[in-house]
Formats: sequence, structure tokens, C-alpha cells
Amino acid sequence: MADLLVVGSVALDSVETPFGKVHEVLGGSATYFSYSASFFTQVRVVATVGEDFPGAHLRLLGDRGVDLDGLKTSKGKTFRWVGQYGYDLNEAKTLDTQLNVLAEFKPALGDGLRRTPFLFLANIDPDLQRDVLRQMKERPRLVALDTMNFWIQGKQEALRRVLADVDVVTINDGEARQLAGEPNLIRAARAIASMGPRTVVVKRGEYGALMLTDGAFFFVPAYPLESVYDPTGAGDTFAGGFMGYLAAQERIDAAAMRRAVVYGSVMASFTVEDFSLKRLTRLRPADIADRYTAFHDLIRLDGE
Ligand code: AMP
Repeated sequence: MADLLVVGSVALDSVETPFGKVHEVLGGSATYFSYSASFFTQVRVVATVGEDFPGAHLRLLGDRGVDLDGLKTSKGKTFRWVGQYGYDLNEAKTLDTQLNVLAEFKPALGDGLRRTPFLFLANIDPDLQRDVLRQMKERPRLVALDTMNFWIQGKQEALRRVLADVDVVTINDGEARQLAGEPNLIRAARAIASMGPRTVVVKRGEYGALMLTDGAFFFVPAYPLESVYDPTGAGDTFAGGFMGYLAAQERIDAAAMRRAVVYGSVMASFTVEDFSLKRLTRLRPADIADRYTAFHDLIRLDGE
């Protein structure tokens, strides 16, 4: 089991879906990622919050064993995101993004973090993502990156620079098309792989996840759920399961990568069952094992 470092946002989210509405609840890319990955390995967070950030939220992560030494409280307000979903839960509409303390965030990795063997550059400014990668004393065994339309539109050049240096990119389907400038998802995945990453994981919401690794495709459907309340954080929770599982393996080969996609899908399938991190905070390791088995049954080809 190896340590996993994540750099990303810790947020207060206000979200509306057809099934309810929440105001300034715990969210953020690093939050969902670290909570999810904490079921598999030791996670360390580098992020910043404002002075208004509730201590109870930090305790929630601390209670899962997430190392928060790299989480800095800065003068000012916590990053806020306001999002809305219609009946098509696959598409988040961003109503407001207030970077607040994230606008001035300059992640400085302490010596202890600079040799972490697994690194996840969660959705933040691509210049910050590259800066963190540069601070690593040794090239991590595996570096993955996530991004979103906000940065594809606003900082595409910076994004392409950091993409050239990572092993894995996780991205949702709309954003993959946007980044590649290519409507066909298969071609889009190949085009993104040609920008640098050996592995491209395209998250397709209720349609599952598609992985292209070393030129070969692998696909897992989403777990068929009857009640989905809030898809916020599904992508980061997926990445937490994916990277957390890999960090816990001795060998990272094609089979491990495939299982990681299933673990990512398992974790994401829980997150969407409630708002914020509510469902994850009720999760037990046995639930993860059960749903992994259910996934196996869902996609196996032999009968009985
Ligand atoms: P996802 O897993 O893709 O649903 O990501 C959801 C999380 O991303 C939310 O909890 C937001 O707080 C966070 N988020 C949204 N916009 C940004 C942004 N521009 N930078 C960093 N984090 C963001």
C-alpha cells in the first residue's frame, strides 16, 4: 500500500437537482477524491480553505484517516461553486464559481510530501497542477489529472502543457470532445492520448466509463441505480476509487487498471445516491465489496 497525494479544491457547494437543493455544503474535488480513496490507502491532501470553513468538515476527513497537514487555512473566504442539474443529470450547469482563497493558492509541498509515489492533480488551475508536479523530488510511480470545461475554455495552453507530463487523465465526455475538438468519443480519447497521457479515462455519467490505455479500450457501464439524487462529485469519487485502488497494488498492469475502473465506478455509484458526501459517510468497506461483486455479475458474459 503506497501513499497517495491529492491537490485540488475543498469547497462549499450549493447544488440544485430535480430531487432537492442544498446550500453551502461540503464539496470540492480534493474532498470527494480523498474521502473515496481513504477506503483503499493513506491519502494526503494539499488544498486551501478560508477562515469561514466549518471545523466539522475537516473532522469528517480526519476521521477517515485523511492526512490534512497540507490543508492550509488562508485569510478570506472558502472557494464556492453553485451548480444545477436538470432531468439529465449527466450535465452540470455552473451558475457561479467564486475562487476566493483558491485565486491566491500557491501549493507548497513540505519535504515529506515531495516523494509521495501516487499523485492526483484534481480539478484546479492547470498552472497549479504543473507547479505541484514540478515540486516532486522523485517522479511519482503514477500521476493522474482531472480537469473541466472552466479550464479547457480559460487556460487550454496551460492545460496542454501539464497534460504532456501525466500518465492518466480522467475527463468527462463533453469535456473530452471539447478538449479534442472532436465529436466522436473514440477519436477524442485517442486525440487526448496523443497529447501525452498513456491512459485516458472518459467518464460518461450514467453511461459508464471508457478507458483507453496503451491503445486498447475497456468499458464499464454505470451501476444501474433507481435513485440518483445528486451527481456532484461523482467524477472525483471515481478518481478516488481508481487511484486509491492502484496505490494499494503491488503491480500496475492492464488487469489492475481494469479493476481500478470498476472500483472507481463502484465508489461513484454511492456518491450519487445522496447530496454532498452524505452517502459516502455512511459507507462501510463491506458495501464496497458487495457492489464490486454486483458489478462483476452485471457485466459477466457467462450465464447462471
Ligand atoms: P465532479 O466530480 O466533476 O462532479 O466535481 C464536483 C466538484 O468540483 C464540486 O464539489 C466543486 O466544488 C468542484 N469544482 C467546480 N468547479 C471547480 C473549479 N473551477 N475548480 C476547482 N473545483 C471546482
